[in-house]
Amino acid sequence: GSYIEENSASPVKLPTIKFTKLFINGEFVDSVSGKTFETIDPRTGEVIARVAEGDKEDVDLAVKAARQAFDDGPWPRMSGAERGRIMMKYADLIDEHIEELAALDAIDAGKLFSGGKAVDIPNVARLLRYYAGAADKIHGEVLKMSRELHGYTLREPIGVSGHIIPWNFPSSMFFMMSAPALAAGCTMIVKPAEQTPLSALFYGHLAKQAGMPDGVINVITGYGPTAGAAIASHMDVDKVCFTGSTEVGRKIMQAAATSNLKQVSLELGGKSPLLIFDDADVDKAADLALLGILYNKGEICVASSRVFVQEGIYDEFVKKLKEKAKDWVVGDPFDPRSRLGPQVDKQQFDKILSYIEHGKREGASLLTGGKPVGKKGYFIEPTVFTDVKEDMMIATDEIFGPVMSLMKFKTIDEAIKKANNTKYGLAAGIVTKNLDVANTVSRSIRAGTIWINCYFAFDNDCSYGGYKMSGFGRHLGMEALHKFLQVKSVVTPIYNSPW
Ligand code: ADP
Repeated sequence: GSYIEENSASPVKLPTIKFTKLFINGEFVDSVSGKTFETIDPRTGEVIARVAEGDKEDVDLAVKAARQAFDDGPWPRMSGAERGRIMMKYADLIDEHIEELAALDAIDAGKLFSGGKAVDIPNVARLLRYYAGAADKIHGEVLKMSRELHGYTLREPIGVSGHIIPWNFPSSMFFMMSAPALAAGCTMIVKPAEQTPLSALFYGHLAKQAGMPDGVINVITGYGPTAGAAIASHMDVDKVCFTGSTEVGRKIMQAAATSNLKQVSLELGGKSPLLIFDDADVDKAADLALLGILYNKGEICVASSRVFVQEGIYDEFVKKLKEKAKDWVVGDPFDPRSRLGPQVDKQQFDKILSYIEHGKREGASLLTGGKPVGKKGYFIEPTVFTDVKEDMMIATDEIFGPVMSLMKFKTIDEAIKKANNTKYGLAAGIVTKNLDVANTVSRSIRAGTIWINCYFAFDNDCSYGGYKMSGFGRHLGMEALHKFLQVKSVVTPIYNSPW
């Protein structure tokens, strides 16, 4: 059935909350402490449900289950094809629950229901199928040794992996981190963000339905400094995979270093530039710039939060941007007219508004927006600042909200220099019809993804991740699969060789 009732602008038939306990070794269980925490609906600020609050003891139980499933269980031992078959079934089950899952992310994260239904959730199923198809194509190499030795490599799963997930894409991030790990034959503990635990628990349930052996996927809901930190510092976790803020990423790496030197991959913050050159179609460029900062209400690590426009088209661009920003309607994520839902929680809402105030105090001009919308919930207007200087906080810090900083440039060299003037390096966009400009700029920008005449052009086969303080390791593509594999070299003398 539909979650949008007829005859009304936005009233919603909320999804039933079926799963609120920890998912360990194939069972839903209370936390050892018996504690629970509230998950809040950002549309209203009201409580949706109370969810089990996992902590160190619960992480210990989950790691034990994952360890056993890895050391003695069938998952890493079955053929890649067989793992792939179960992952395909998992994908089919997700497809059967698209609306329910999209609705859970809408009430928990304020994400557009239409977007979840059309893009996020169907793509989660496609992502599982992509890696399912890779599961039986994992192999090493035969080596051409310099002496009379026979050598080859095996690619083996890294073991038990811990996945610490952010709240901005609760479903996509769950599987960007878990699907390649599953294909590799790893077992895992997944900790969703405390703001958005609901869909993750549902994915635990569907894993079991798909025939995933117990202990392969364990879901621990809870807070970062407790449950998250317990994963990062656990002696029996072989890898920790984290997506979130640069500040927490640093803590994860420290915890890994001081515990068992587990492998780490980090996908962290960004302040990605979008460079628009004089020859661009101004109308299209303005659309792209707004998409780049307003999609998912700016809560996206690759958001184009710094927009640099060449001086010849600057004035026209500003005019278009102001007009077009009106099309980005803020409203209930279930209302088909809405293009931005609420920010995820009160903390983010306050943080974004305080950056806006700071921008005004520093002397930037508000072209549009800048205020909250409505009396309840965490809605903020699409906001664009002009007269931004490179050293203002709104130009240097990741705001993680619908706030664009617009700046001007004269030459290509100046554009490159300004684009690279950041501690981050996640993505960049270039808008030009000039191939020389596009090629030169894409090679000069230090970022993991360059989008030319497009933005957010994601594909499951195209990896992305950070340069500089945006982290290391890659999501998506074969790069992400290799993160969960390690190489073993096997060497033996050829018969009678004097090795
Ligand atoms: P944001 O700043 O965007 O809210 P965070 O980086 O704080 O994102 O959170 C991303 C994920 O990291 C969440 O699942 C959160 O619970 C977790 N987390 C936060 N602090 C820690 C920590 N000290 N150790 C491990 N995980 C943490």
